[in-house]
Amino acid sequence: MPRAFITGITGQDGQHLAEFLHGKGYEVFGMVKGQNNPKMTAMRDEFPYVEPVPGDLADLPSIVKALELSQPDEVYNLAAISFVAMSFNQAELTANITGTGVLRMLDAVRIVGGSQNNAIRFYQASSSEMFGQVRQTPQTEMTPFHPRSPYGCAKVFGHDITVNYRESYGLFACSGILFNHEGPRRGLEFVTRKVTNSVARIKLGIQDEIVMGNLDSKRDWGYAGDYVKAMWAMLQQDEPDDYVIATGQTHSIEDLVERAFAEVGIEDWRPYVRQDPKFYRPAEVDLLIGDATKAHRQLGWKPEVDFPTLISMMVKHDLALETAKLRRR
Ligand code: NAP
Repeated sequence: MPRAFITGITGQDGQHLAEFLHGKGYEVFGMVKGQNNPKMTAMRDEFPYVEPVPGDLADLPSIVKALELSQPDEVYNLAAISFVAMSFNQAELTANITGTGVLRMLDAVRIVGGSQNNAIRFYQASSSEMFGQVRQTPQTEMTPFHPRSPYGCAKVFGHDITVNYRESYGLFACSGILFNHEGPRRGLEFVTRKVTNSVARIKLGIQDEIVMGNLDSKRDWGYAGDYVKAMWAMLQQDEPDDYVIATGQTHSIEDLVERAFAEVGIEDWRPYVRQDPKFYRPAEVDLLIGDATKAHRQLGWKPEVDFPTLISMMVKHDLALETAKLRRR
């Protein structure tokens, strides 16, 4: 039975990946931070097959212990301070976890994986936010980085150090440059889920309006359940490499809002949406659109869920969730 170790197991992608790897017959270990992580109970209920292992990306000895205990064949480093807006307020923490945390993971893999054959295969969760002020459209593996947030800067370090450890020490280390991917498990702080959840609450009469930032930014949005399959496929190749994972289609935040309201039968969404500059980023990323040709060719990967289906899935989930909460009141 192959063994996988996932950091960020309590996050959106960690949950999808755990489910996917379990379905493939893996024994799954998940690193959980904190002495009494509030997400643990829900995780144990939904994913009883995941073996939780304590550890923190800020603490190298804890990562080494976690890897010694789980003895994985594959390590997926999904943990991060992942919310761009928060990274502006907590830039040093973001650099330490999202950036230097990758270096700690790679060193732990070297220590536990052994220098002889470096048997552990490593996946790093890189991000399209590294492209920031884009130098070329669409963005490929060769597009230069120009990050526009502390999050993007930290991800560039994590990406570069992954490539460096692969080239310097022969680690089987891959970096997936993933464009935005969403789903009902997305945190409520992220714009897609904020919109779909607010639309559900407005429809049910629990909330009056959504307060938004920039509606003009454009993103390449896919479904998280599709994207974790690409992570796994990267680690099954003969040689480690980096891949852009994207749908190749872009939509504005206004498109997202319009589609989410249409899903609940509200055609004129403007009376329900207020813009507030406090939600604008200090430096904006205007347009992201990825070219995943290399992943199509080499991994045989293609996205299956399109944008309208994704938003519909999220709105339906949030309607059911908020209705259930109303009934419990
Ligand atoms: P997420 O839902 O925000 O999950 C982040 C995870 O990191 C959580 O499990 C969190 O644990 C964990 N974590 C935070 N600080 C930690 C620390 N110091 N030590 C150990 N664990 C820590 O993120 P996601 O959407 O699943 O994304 C997964 C990865 O892909 C992230 O690295 C993200 O930056 C990257 N990425 C995401 C997207 C996207 O669109 N979703 C796109 C490109 C790249 P707690 O729950 O206990 O806080």
